[in-house]
Amino acid sequence: MNHKIEEVIEAARKYIPELNKKRLLKAYEFAKTAHERQLRKDGSPYIVHPVSTAYILTDLHADEDTLIGALLHDVPEDTEYNLSDIEKNFGKKIAFLVEGITKLSKVHYRHNMEDRQVESLKKLFIHSAQDIRIILIKLADRLHNMSTIQAIPKPEKRTRIAKETIEIYVPVANLLGIWELKGQLEDLCFKTLFPEEFKHIEELAQQSALKQKNIIKRSINNIKRFFDENKIKNFRIEGRKKTLFSVYKKMLNKGRSFHEIYDLIGLRVIVNNIGQCYQALGILHQNFTPKLGRLKDYIAIPKSNGYQSIHTTVFGVDGTITELQIRTWDMHLESEYGVAAHYFYTNRVEKKRSLKKTQKKSLWVKKILEIQKDLKNNKFIENLKLDVFQDRIFVFTPKGDVVDLPKGANSIDFAFHIHTEIGRRAASTLINGKNENLTHRLRTGDIIEIITTDAARPIVDWLDLVHTNLAKNKIKEYLKNQPEEKIIIEGERVLDQKIKGYGYAGISDITAEEKDLIQRQFEIKGWNEILYMIGCGLIHANDVINFLFSTDELIGEESAPKNIDAYKYGGERSHSSLGAPPVVHKVHFLLEVINRVGMLRDISNEMAALGINILKLTTTLSEDSSRSLVEFFAEIRDVNQYEKVVNYLYRIPGVLKVKRLQNTESSLKI
Ligand code: MN
Repeated sequence: MNHKIEEVIEAARKYIPELNKKRLLKAYEFAKTAHERQLRKDGSPYIVHPVSTAYILTDLHADEDTLIGALLHDVPEDTEYNLSDIEKNFGKKIAFLVEGITKLSKVHYRHNMEDRQVESLKKLFIHSAQDIRIILIKLADRLHNMSTIQAIPKPEKRTRIAKETIEIYVPVANLLGIWELKGQLEDLCFKTLFPEEFKHIEELAQQSALKQKNIIKRSINNIKRFFDENKIKNFRIEGRKKTLFSVYKKMLNKGRSFHEIYDLIGLRVIVNNIGQCYQALGILHQNFTPKLGRLKDYIAIPKSNGYQSIHTTVFGVDGTITELQIRTWDMHLESEYGVAAHYFYTNRVEKKRSLKKTQKKSLWVKKILEIQKDLKNNKFIENLKLDVFQDRIFVFTPKGDVVDLPKGANSIDFAFHIHTEIGRRAASTLINGKNENLTHRLRTGDIIEIITTDAARPIVDWLDLVHTNLAKNKIKEYLKNQPEEKIIIEGERVLDQKIKGYGYAGISDITAEEKDLIQRQFEIKGWNEILYMIGCGLIHANDVINFLFSTDELIGEESAPKNIDAYKYGGERSHSSLGAPPVVHKVHFLLEVINRVGMLRDISNEMAALGINILKLTTTLSEDSSRSLVEFFAEIRDVNQYEKVVNYLYRIPGVLKVKRLQNTESSLKI
């Protein structure tokens, strides 16, 4: 798998007629000088590696800048030259690519995907979202390293690299749809991780190879003749290679023998247009008996990932079961090179048609979304316990930039992640163009636009609404910088409001003695100091409330105030040093909701997400059927959990009001 720079130039010229050979050679010489005297593990000069990486990329029809980026990709990491040297010599664009790869080189596999790991992968995706070419160079880099992995003497190191490859880079290649790279990477990992199984399968494949080749050749010749007779022009028929790993996986998953899988023949027919696809199908079915129930028309009905082709299985030459894919050249390009085809192909077309840049980007954005979906559906990955994205969501700015957030985050989190100023001024949000509450839970793929205001914000209550520490810290920082008197007034307001939310008279209820006790409890002198701490979020009002009232007094069955709207902004934090007794309270809720499909499901999902049991749920429709009342009992542990429930319920689209009732009460009319 080692290549020379001349081979790179020759391969690139085939698809880039205007290739600037001089520029490419300059990068080559620069890298060669930088890596001078460095050797690869197999003893070859280091420059062989970046050159081979570039060569792999010519397979994907990578553009000139990508090839140059590949040639330079290890310079800042391993040599005396740095990024600014690269920028000086090759410009900003190239430096950006190389910088991205350098950052990606810090992505390392660990058994337990810790925060750092998620962080690195996040970088990986965010960087490649900025420029997909970065990840393509990284994949080619990895493929070349894997192809020379045998030169690494330590078996543990080989295993670690192979595992990292199969858990991180193979899924990425897969989801970007770059089958060619993916298959090669997979087989190399297979060889490293399961050497005996690999050898066994390889031997079987070699034994079958001759027979296979012969049948494929005869099949292709036959079909060519049929097509010629029908005057189809500019077509291609090719045998589809099965990777050893894919055969092995099928043997394991489907419990079939090697021959049952390997001896099937796969052929691909590529023609000019969709009309010819159906014509080709007709010709094939006329000449070979189709296998019943195997015809799939993914041209008329594309797969959800956009894949298009007609699939059919026939009894071919000598009755050999032959699987056929029929597609146009465009479909072929798309399915073989995936995102790379999108990028390089549309880029070339773009020059002619001057497509908007955002259009190109959105294709990539779509792919990122699929990554998340597919990572979850991929059994193989699941077995290897890669759950990097389980707790993350990816959302987008209107311009298509990716922001990744923890699950459960809302538009306020998003706003603070974009910019402190936007967070502070956030007034409302458009999610996928629809006006939503700022606390509406975001989902992967949402496009979010924040509408700002000049009004003084945020208030301390926001601390309970956000999910990310970044947002919390920024809010606290803002609050702390307010004038002291203002903070005290805020603290007083929020404490008063919360106490009232539980049906008590409010702050005036607190006796001087209790105030003293609170100060001692928090080791703070002065009641105003306490209010100050509450006002800037250093003490949570709930902690004071928990100290003043027992849980029974707050959410016990007899404590529910009549028809008081449940306090909307609850505490998400559980840092109460005072704790709560492990008693479960049956809290009686009454919700006024818009009558829509899925409402009950959403309610039970939210409760399930909090691990809360629901008892006796009933619903009543309003007279005009537009709204309904949902009444249920929930088993709730403490005040923090109660407020969380209220918060979560308010987040469900269409929930208008959340009320807590006394146990004996029944539904009210709207
Ligand atoms: Mn490298």
